[in-house]
Amino acid sequence: MFVDIVKIRIKAGKGGDGIVHFHREKYVAAGGPDGGDGGLGGNVVFEVDDHMNTLLDFRFKRKYVAESGMPGGGKNSFGKAGKDLVIKVPRGTLIKDSATGALMCDMSSTERFIAAKGGRGGWGNAHFATPTRQAPRFAKPGLEGDEREILLELKLIADVGLIGFPNVGKSTLLSMISKSRPKIANYHFTTLTPNLGVVFVDAGQSFVCADIPGLIEGASEGVGLGHYFLRHVERCRLLVHLVDVSGSEGRDPVDDMMIINRELERYSPELAKRPQIIVCNKTDILEEDSDNLERVKVAAEQMGFMCLEMSAATNTGTQALIYKVWDELQKLDPIPDFEADFVFEEEALPEERDIQIEVEDGIYYIRGTWIEKVVGSTNFGDYESRMYFERTLRKAGVFDMLEREGIQEKDTVDACGLQFEYIF
Ligand code: GDP
Ligand code: MG
Repeated sequence: MFVDIVKIRIKAGKGGDGIVHFHREKYVAAGGPDGGDGGLGGNVVFEVDDHMNTLLDFRFKRKYVAESGMPGGGKNSFGKAGKDLVIKVPRGTLIKDSATGALMCDMSSTERFIAAKGGRGGWGNAHFATPTRQAPRFAKPGLEGDEREILLELKLIADVGLIGFPNVGKSTLLSMISKSRPKIANYHFTTLTPNLGVVFVDAGQSFVCADIPGLIEGASEGVGLGHYFLRHVERCRLLVHLVDVSGSEGRDPVDDMMIINRELERYSPELAKRPQIIVCNKTDILEEDSDNLERVKVAAEQMGFMCLEMSAATNTGTQALIYKVWDELQKLDPIPDFEADFVFEEEALPEERDIQIEVEDGIYYIRGTWIEKVVGSTNFGDYESRMYFERTLRKAGVFDMLEREGIQEKDTVDACGLQFEYIF
């Protein structure tokens, strides 16, 4: 089965812990602190692989975790950084934050994208030495790496989308004009994945064509498989719409053409306005007395579409189609990438940091992902660590926020389950 939308969970590596260590040397009584910092956690990175064209692999593996950083060592040595986890996806994959649906990256022209950043390594005790605190007995644990659930959505990138009812000859055409070898058979739904083919026009001139299978009446509402594939048409600059003028399937080509256009319109009015070339296929078996060809031409003209004749099976008219498509593509803008609208927490301005103060039963709750990270990286059994925690909150403006909410001396503050008294 063809998979073009999947949900997976990714987790970047945790930063390595900083360590507590003191310089030891023969004859040196009490050396200074020299505990090193933990290494960075590995990132989760997405990379385009042009040999892939489905997201099938992701059906069997749903969770992706990058390596953690190693703890620091004595003599101020850094812990080793965790390795990045590289996940390969087909070009044209959209990476979305599953919670909000925000687009993180369109892997169309980008080659690599860091979707989850590894946690920073914790500081070793060497960092915390000050003139008044010469033997700090604490170090910081590494921070957790980003973890999120994401949606991968594949929108193939093709200049031209081949559309039309099943069995009109889309796959046959693609096999004639490109090196792509899609399955061709005289029964419906043989094509279960959109096939891509590169069509050479002339030296240095080519375009990418996608065979979009499964469009039938009701496709926009989920009938058949067509709605899965409609998303791929969205990115095509030009639609080549095949109809079977021989009526070999017992259907009327004009009706078919109208039905497919209605489905496009229902799925996306914008898509329905995309330039279209109507191609009357199977002219080799067109009956002498049939008026199908004429009727399709008239109908196409009324809809403002160009119309060509062809027999894909006998390779008649295919070259003329290639030239026509190339000419039309020259007039059209390139396919735009989708614009990312996702904001990483670290990139957010301080005022956009996710910090919420909520008062319930006289307790002031500090909530949000930022405070979770800060609490998670503090060793509360240690006085100096607690002081550090307090400074971090003060700097981030949390105390101002609490005071704005009306906090009084000795009121209880709750930060991720950790409660303390508020003292000015
Ligand atoms: P698709 O479902 O639109 O991809 O259609 P296919 O390419 O699989 O073709 C369906 C059937 O129509 C196959 O048996 C083809 O051999 C046949 N076919 C395709 N194009 C032509 C044509 O121009 N003339 C004739 N006689 N048969 C054709
Ligand atoms: Mg086909």
